[in-house]
Amino acid sequence: MKIAVIAHDGKKAEMVAFLLKYKSHLSKIELVATGTTGSHAEKAGLNVQCLLSGPVGGDAQIAAMAAEKKLAAVIFFRDPMGKHPHEPDVQMLMRLCDVHNIPIATNPATATLIMDQMISQA
Ligand code: PGA
Repeated sequence: MKIAVIAHDGKKAEMVAFLLKYKSHLSKIELVATGTTGSHAEKAGLNVQCLLSGPVGGDAQIAAMAAEKKLAAVIFFRDPMGKHPHEPDVQMLMRLCDVHNIPIATNPATATLIMDQMISQA
């Protein structure tokens, strides 16, 4: 089971804290991440496959994985207060998750519901 994780800069610490809460379960779940989010998670001791950084194509890579049905879920902690040069890529990712019915969480409350469900299935 593979889950993609992405966090805008203002949400990276929150993402790492979120993932660490699930650390003991992450042996059963593969994580793939946009580059900078993934490197933060790696520094915290997590095993993560790092893709390109979001603004240079990482979100698009994750969108492609969603379209190929390679992902069980996407967790994307967006910063609703920020402006992002790669907003079209973000919209594409969210659209393709809807096209392919892939669960996508954009805040910790929803991410918790998804992760708890994934763990119970893993
Ligand atoms: P990053 O990308 O993890 O490389 O910072 C996240 C994003 O899409 O903003």
